[in-house]
Amino acid sequence: MLTTIEKIVFVILALISAGFTIHGIKTIVDSVRKGRPAPELKNIPASLIKAGITVLLQRTIFKARKALSTIHLGLFFGLITYAFVNLVDVLEGFIPGFELVYGGRHLAFPFLNSSVINTFNLIADLMSGALLIAITVFLVRRFIAKDKRLEYRGNVLLNPKVKAGGQKTDSLIVGVFVILHVSARLFGQSFRLTNGADPFMPIASLINSTFGASQTGVHAAWWISLGWVLYILPYITRSKHTHFTVAPINLGLAKQNPRGQLDPAIPLKVVNGNQYEPGAKYLHDLSWKRVLDSYACVQCNRCQDICPANFAGRPLSPSALEVNKRYLLKDATFASHPDRLLLPLTETVISPEAVWSCTTCYACVRVCPVGNEPMADIVDIRRRLIVEGAELDSGVQNALQSLATNGNWMSKGKRLRGRWAKEMEFPIRNATEEPVENLWFVGDTASFDERVVPNTKMVARIFQCAGLDFGIMYQNESNAGNDVRRVGEEGLFEQLVEQNLQAFGKAQFKRIVTTDPHSFNTLKNEYPQFGGTFEVKHYTAVLVRLFEEGKLTIKNKLPHYKVTFHDPCYLGRYNGGFTAPRKLLELLGVEFHEMPRNCENSFCCGAGGGQIWMGKVAPGERPAENRIKEALSTFGKNPSEKKQLFIVTCPKDMIMYSDAVKTTGNEGKIEVRDLIQLVAEAVGVEEAAVVEAVASPA
Ligand code: SF4
Ligand code: SF4
Repeated sequence: MLTTIEKIVFVILALISAGFTIHGIKTIVDSVRKGRPAPELKNIPASLIKAGITVLLQRTIFKARKALSTIHLGLFFGLITYAFVNLVDVLEGFIPGFELVYGGRHLAFPFLNSSVINTFNLIADLMSGALLIAITVFLVRRFIAKDKRLEYRGNVLLNPKVKAGGQKTDSLIVGVFVILHVSARLFGQSFRLTNGADPFMPIASLINSTFGASQTGVHAAWWISLGWVLYILPYITRSKHTHFTVAPINLGLAKQNPRGQLDPAIPLKVVNGNQYEPGAKYLHDLSWKRVLDSYACVQCNRCQDICPANFAGRPLSPSALEVNKRYLLKDATFASHPDRLLLPLTETVISPEAVWSCTTCYACVRVCPVGNEPMADIVDIRRRLIVEGAELDSGVQNALQSLATNGNWMSKGKRLRGRWAKEMEFPIRNATEEPVENLWFVGDTASFDERVVPNTKMVARIFQCAGLDFGIMYQNESNAGNDVRRVGEEGLFEQLVEQNLQAFGKAQFKRIVTTDPHSFNTLKNEYPQFGGTFEVKHYTAVLVRLFEEGKLTIKNKLPHYKVTFHDPCYLGRYNGGFTAPRKLLELLGVEFHEMPRNCENSFCCGAGGGQIWMGKVAPGERPAENRIKEALSTFGKNPSEKKQLFIVTCPKDMIMYSDAVKTTGNEGKIEVRDLIQLVAEAVGVEEAAVVEAVASPA
């Protein structure tokens, strides 16, 4: 179809386009390689294949925004189809007489029979329509409907180019490209239909019925359609649309360690004799994988939608963090401002206030369709700020000081840790002095906080009643360090780990049981990094086992309670502990109502990552207050005969939600209870009851 001159021009333009595209790819690879070593990945080819399948099935995008994700299917499969379509179009341009219309004319490839050609044409034609519909929806959403979810709060630090609308320009360019490229191709196909409609090209046939056939039209449409491709390929390497190709790679190289295990503050692998400071101050202090995150980022703001800190009006947006990283890299490489990489991340990608707003709830990482970990960047930035002596919130400072001196954050003497146990009506064994099967790691809040201690005692009574062989470590227990590590105090975290490992060394036990999901997480997932590998169970899983083994039996079912359950981040999202609490509620016979945000999608109470220690409370609705409202709306507007309960399984949740019930003025409408209180009532172990020890402990 093309003349010789046209072919030469096209080849020259294609070579220029390939040159710019390769330069773009090389620039990205070079900047990713400057990142620090990441934790080693196992079996990368298998991970990449798995990620490829995940992307092909579009599994990750359906974690949120189901309707838009469905429309995105048109865009995704349309663009994949067009990769083949463009190849065929190039062949049609270069091979004289080769045209795939009406089942194939002047076939240059005899193996292509007419049914293959007709199928190809039908798919290409229909996918063209799907692409045009999808891109129109996305353009309307951004430019006409102005979906608020694509915007950032005014208090979030943004790269000046993002503020000036860089993302919108990118979207517009790619949107216009898709429309022109696909429309030109459809018109080109319609102009080829010299014999009228082709049933396998319905959209092209429709256009043909109005505009007819035209060889000049075929020619012009070919150049418009493919000329755009030559422009857009290098452009993509310089725009936010790098995610087209980087996202599957990023997913394939995503974290393989448990969700609840943070990367070490200093890379374990030394490259070129580099001495690394803990954490991250500059962009290339981040691991190469997290530099790659910014190129994979779709800039969809799904992570911002579910961020509890952002919800509470704090200046934190995990998506802005990734977007700012991307624009910083773009400024430094394509715009020749490498000096900008010498600016601290707290000036370029995230404000210090935002850094200290994160609750480390993991929701942003979980929802991200491309496997990004903005939360991990935040912890790394905190780590360096701590090492450099950054000014901390006074509450956090006090907590850390107390943790260093007393091994707990509540400024209590070490010896007081087991006081609650000494108040019990039966002795609780010291696991560092005699062997026990279950070492109960109680945690700070459950040991010291007067609002929670009654529940701790209740757990002890239930364990005793079931004949569980258990003990605690009294003053030998220190805070497990989960939140200390997430605040960025890696040195203190390691000190606490060492203290606890020493205490565990004195004890003989089969497994650790804990009532605190934060301790549960770090003991289970992070102590192995320091040589402490244990079987760790949350008390809800232990209770389910005790019921299943018949060591606990329900005496009174509790149908008079209407309850909802809050999944704590560190039990649920981090460690998949969704089933045991629900199974217990089912056994108890309560009227159970699931909140809309549940399990993986649970909404953080706002206490994690050291937030509970903060002296300053930000104005506005707090996440826990919003959650209480969610619970009440789940129960419905009509007044209930039954008592409405908000059930928790984390000592911090007990505090956060009891406060939130008061501050939202909902006392009398809903009550916060730990699940153990319901179990005690159903089993018949009341607070004041004297529990007789079962003769032979299990
Ligand atoms: S971990 Fe939670 S609070 Fe922190 S940035 Fe992610 S979503 Fe926001
Ligand atoms: S980090 Fe993930 S969820 Fe957040 S904007 Fe980027 S792609 Fe979307």
